[in-house]
This record gives sequence, structure tokens and C-alpha cells, in this order.
Amino acid sequence: MPFNVEEIRKDFPILSRKVNGNPLVYFDNAATSQTPKQVIETIVDYYSNYNANIHRGVHSLSQEATDAYELARQKIQKHFNAEYTHEIILTSGTTHSINLVANGFSSILKVGDEIIVSALEHHSNIVPWQMLCEKTGATLKVIPMNDEGELVISEYDKLLSDKTRLVFVNHISNALGTINPIEDIIKKARQAGAAVLIDGAQACPHIKPDVQELDVDFYVASAHKMCGPTGVGMLYGKEAWLKQLPPYQGGGEMITEVTFKKTTYADLPHKFEAGTPNVCGGIAFGAAIDYMNTIGFDAIANYEKELLDYATQRLLEIEGLKIYGTSPKKTSVISFNLKGIHPYDVGTILDKMGIAVRTGHHCAQPIMDYFKIPGTVRASLSFYNTNKEIDLLVEGVKKAKRMLS
Ligand code: PMP
Repeated sequence: MPFNVEEIRKDFPILSRKVNGNPLVYFDNAATSQTPKQVIETIVDYYSNYNANIHRGVHSLSQEATDAYELARQKIQKHFNAEYTHEIILTSGTTHSINLVANGFSSILKVGDEIIVSALEHHSNIVPWQMLCEKTGATLKVIPMNDEGELVISEYDKLLSDKTRLVFVNHISNALGTINPIEDIIKKARQAGAAVLIDGAQACPHIKPDVQELDVDFYVASAHKMCGPTGVGMLYGKEAWLKQLPPYQGGGEMITEVTFKKTTYADLPHKFEAGTPNVCGGIAFGAAIDYMNTIGFDAIANYEKELLDYATQRLLEIEGLKIYGTSPKKTSVISFNLKGIHPYDVGTILDKMGIAVRTGHHCAQPIMDYFKIPGTVRASLSFYNTNKEIDLLVEGVKKAKRMLS
């Protein structure tokens, strides 16, 4: 299908609304992407026609809902190229997926073990590991970053040792857009005998990861960053790990038998899916994956590269504007500041013009500390954005500069 952004925009009802009297320009895609009508219709269809609890009902609605939910799991498996469907655990999102793995390792790690994270992580890929270290006595080591916002891989090499048990890195930084060299990071961790979890929350809107080719132990993502609904996400785990890790939560669905003497756990994936899941969310996640694959990830990457180049060039025309994260290997995220002006003030003025950006530390305070700034203005672009919208952003930033200088 040829890439036609005007046609694609028609799929997103929200893009035709006004905000503060102006047409919405949505540049907060790294926080949450917008939802195409194909996904909205899936949600409406579910609640209109076959809303039911799954896996345990004999009645038709329950069967239909179960089939649709399990079909979504298969779509996710295929998309990420997992070997088995039961290696896909449906969670409430990336944060839940990471905590599930961290909790599992609390019974495996011991004093003296080491965990490596990177300086580019989102708080949700820092805090659970700090909590795990507190529980187990393991030590957290950090791969540093450089001024371009890239990881210093020569330092990673020095951190790896026979004490390293786990390595956790994001595929793409949410604050700067840097694409990390995860292939190299995984290969080296493997040689050191460590397991690797890749936080793909920011990668999945732009890239189609192949977990078998990556040979990664765990890969996590959220549906709401890839055209799906909030409150649902996935954990891919190699079968051997998922069998070894204990369940995260106890409850219904995740058991084979319960007596007051002993409970036996269900097989994968249900062992990690206690309670009634987000049935509609899971089904809509599958629809979002279908939608993105129809657009095509090569087409998305090519178009977003054009947007990124244009936006970078246009924003840099503004005197006193500095972009953080200047690696040539980055996705369509532009984090910037105007000299002497607080990012929050810029964001507020842009909002008055209908332009949605994110301001603040983007849940990545260590990155802001590195640059010695309180935060940035972040414009994160998606395949449904246009150069015309970038022009509006540039005009808005110029206006903010005039008003705030
Ligand atoms: N990791 C990264 C890199 C992210 O960008 C985000 C979301 N901003 C998360 C983790 C957490 O995702 P969620 O809030 O959907 O659990």
C-alpha cells in the first residue's frame, strides 16, 4: 500500500478535533499514541456483541471472547516472532511486565550478584531493579551515556563480569529517541552468561522486533504506544525462563488446583495471568498490531525519518534552541529547550495553540541530571503527523520565545 498520510489521518477521528480553538497538533506520541477507527471499532464491537469473562465459561459469549483474546495473543506472538504462543504474557503494560520479571528474580538472585541497567532508562526500568537489589543484596551497575545521548559501550564491556546475572536496557530512549545497540548488548551479555530484558515501549511504535533473531530473554511493550488502548501490554519471555520464574500474583485463572494444603499453578501463559484480564484491551491490542502492519513498518520508518529530519532542521533555525539527544541513530523524538526559558512555560503556550507536547523529565531524571536541566520540551512524532504540523510547532516555539524572553 503506498504511504499516503492524508488517507492515514482519516483513520484517526481525534486528529480532526480542535483544542483551545485550534486544530489539534498531536506531538505527544511517545507518551501515548492516538487510536485509529479500526481499533475503536474493535472495542465497540466487543462491548456491543460479545463482552464476557474468558477461559471458564461454557456459554457462547464466553467462548467467543476467549477465542478473540487467544487470537490476539497469536497475533502478538507472530508480530514479535516468538517461538510459542505461551511465551506471550498479556499484562497491563510495560511497567507491569518489568515488575513481573523483577519479582521473579527475587527468589533467584543473591548477595554479590550484579545487575546492569543503562543511564538512558525510564524510571520503570530503574526502580523495580533497585527494589530487587534491596530485597536480594544484589548490586546495580549503570552503563553511562555521552553528550550525544548514546550509551558508552566500552564502559558496558568493563561492567560485564561473571557476577553479572541480568542486563536491562531500553531499545529506544523515551526522553531522547536514541536507538540503543541492543544486538551488541545482548550478544555480550550472553557471552557473560547473563539474562537480558529489553524495554521495547518506545521501539514498538517504530520497529518490528524479532525476539528469536535478537536471542533476547525478555522483551516488553505497551499497547497504548502502538495505536492500541491503555491498560494492556505484553511480556515476551523465553519458555525456559517463564517456566523457572515463580508467579507474580496469586488468584483465579493462574491455578490448576487449589486446596488449603497446596495449590498447583496453571501452565504458561496462565500462570502469570491471575484474575480477569483486560479482555477487550487484549483483543484491541491485536487489532492495533494488525493496523500497524497494514501501514507497514518500513513505510513508517521511512516517513518518520523524513519528519524527523525536517523538524530537526526547522527547529534548529530558532536561535537559542538546543536539542538533547543528537545521535544519528534515533527515532522521531525531539527533546529541546530554549535558552533561559523553562520547558513548562513553552509547553503551556503551545497548548494554547492546540499543540500537544510533553514537558518535564519524561520519567528519566538521570538523563536530565546528566545534562543539568530540569527537563525538556519533547515533541514526539508519529506516522500520522505532517510537515505542515511541524511548521505550526516551529511558529509556536517562536511565539513562546517572543512572549517569554
Ligand atoms: N519504558 C519506556 C521506555 C517508556 O517510554 C514507558 C512509557 N513512557 C514505560 C517504560 C512505561 O510504560 P507504561 O506506562 O505503559 O507501563
